[in-house]
Amino acid sequence: MARLVVVSNRVAMPRDRAGRAGGLAVALRESLQQHGGLWFGWSGEINDAPSPEPRRTRQGRVDYAVLDLTTEEHKGFYLEFSNGMLWPLCHYRLGLIEFRRSAWDSYLAVNARFADQLATELRPDDVIWIHDYHFIPLAAELRRRGVQNRIGFFMHIPFPAPEVLAALPGHERLVRDLCAYDLVGFQTRGDVRALTEYILHEAEGTVIGNSGEGDVRIGAFGRELRVGTFPIGIDTQDFAEIAAEGANSDETQRLTESLAGRALVVGVDRLDYSKGIPQRFEAFQHLLGSRPEHRGKVTFMQIAPISRGEVAQYRKLRNELDALTGRINGKFAEFDWVPVRYLNKSFARNTLAGFYRHARVGLVTPLRDGMNLVAKEYVASQDPADPGALVLSRFAGAARELKGALLVNPYDTEHIADALHRALVMPLEERRQRWESMMGVLKVNTISHWRENYLAALQAEGNPAGRGDDNLAGAAD
Ligand code: UDP
Repeated sequence: MARLVVVSNRVAMPRDRAGRAGGLAVALRESLQQHGGLWFGWSGEINDAPSPEPRRTRQGRVDYAVLDLTTEEHKGFYLEFSNGMLWPLCHYRLGLIEFRRSAWDSYLAVNARFADQLATELRPDDVIWIHDYHFIPLAAELRRRGVQNRIGFFMHIPFPAPEVLAALPGHERLVRDLCAYDLVGFQTRGDVRALTEYILHEAEGTVIGNSGEGDVRIGAFGRELRVGTFPIGIDTQDFAEIAAEGANSDETQRLTESLAGRALVVGVDRLDYSKGIPQRFEAFQHLLGSRPEHRGKVTFMQIAPISRGEVAQYRKLRNELDALTGRINGKFAEFDWVPVRYLNKSFARNTLAGFYRHARVGLVTPLRDGMNLVAKEYVASQDPADPGALVLSRFAGAARELKGALLVNPYDTEHIADALHRALVMPLEERRQRWESMMGVLKVNTISHWRENYLAALQAEGNPAGRGDDNLAGAAD
């Protein structure tokens, strides 16, 4: 049976408690445990005299091997290139990119160093699954070291349209390296389309097969690969259960009491410029300004833990939101009601689940998002007898599946305000119908379903006849 090797920037080490690890970490760990596997990546630590060899831990059937980054690598590879260039590029924020050749060089060098170490760990039958934008060149580096294994890549964030991608110096190399994988998975058909168009129009590649279902086979740079859509899910059943329990938690009860019967609108996001938080605040302000009947009756709670606080754009966003919160509350607050509760701290998932369940409206309005799990978690948390309504950006990957949401243009604050109003006054019957349609999708497209689909597709790639016994996909549960 083939061993699974997972590579991701952050490795969920065995000491990280399951409750802390997100759904993705739990799902990957389950697959690794099932087959025996190796999880390889950055340790999360900075060390200027790093050992060339990875640090190892083993738990059950899973080996963990992690490497430290030097201060220079952390700056160039992680902060400046991955988070400072690829992240804004893939979220269509070209104006936020400051291109530095030194950061690009560092990105390639760290991928090469990680490939050096990973190549020595590999066995001929290993199936390798690499995650996210930090490691796009890793397969090409492994191939240069003679690795012929099946290698898959999954991009958790959006893949930009060719015109946007072409703004990145080095885009040709990035896409050529992406074509060293056997399977490239994306969240939506739009992402698949974007890469396919790049391959056709910028890379002189060809489409060999197209299922029309967001699944294509392309030929480029002397190789063939499959590019497919694999929308990531959540553990829907588990989330519904923790939300039902969370409804009676101390925190939810304190929240309920503090609201004194007012409707709650909830937003939960890392404090990131891709999430459209200022536009959302403006929309709430517009709602209170244009529809006075909601004044004193609705509270908007935005949970926004600080993220990437060392990057200038994130500090600027924080200042902007501090000012907006002050302005809205200063303008509309009464001695017994504050319209916006703005919290720069994170909460455990079970606490969040209880809050989601109590919220009449989930407000999820990213300007661009690969998937957006909060939207799915909000839906899974609702009370089937009296569900809340979801207001969702059309530019979140989740909008492709959650058709029962009120879909909005996140740049149009008046449109969001109208949708908020509609959500707040929506009759129970309509809320139920919309919720049931969304929950139907979430029950099928779970995180296990995603993982199994992806691994089955990767296993099928370049799988010579007679090697069908190394079933990675079916062994998950
Ligand atoms: N989250 C959390 N505590 C918080 C805020 C967020 O556990 O205080 C979790 C949230 O439940 C979700 C994840 O962080 O599972 C955020 O994922 P999403 O896809 O929405 O956005 P990302 O941060 O990956 O861009």
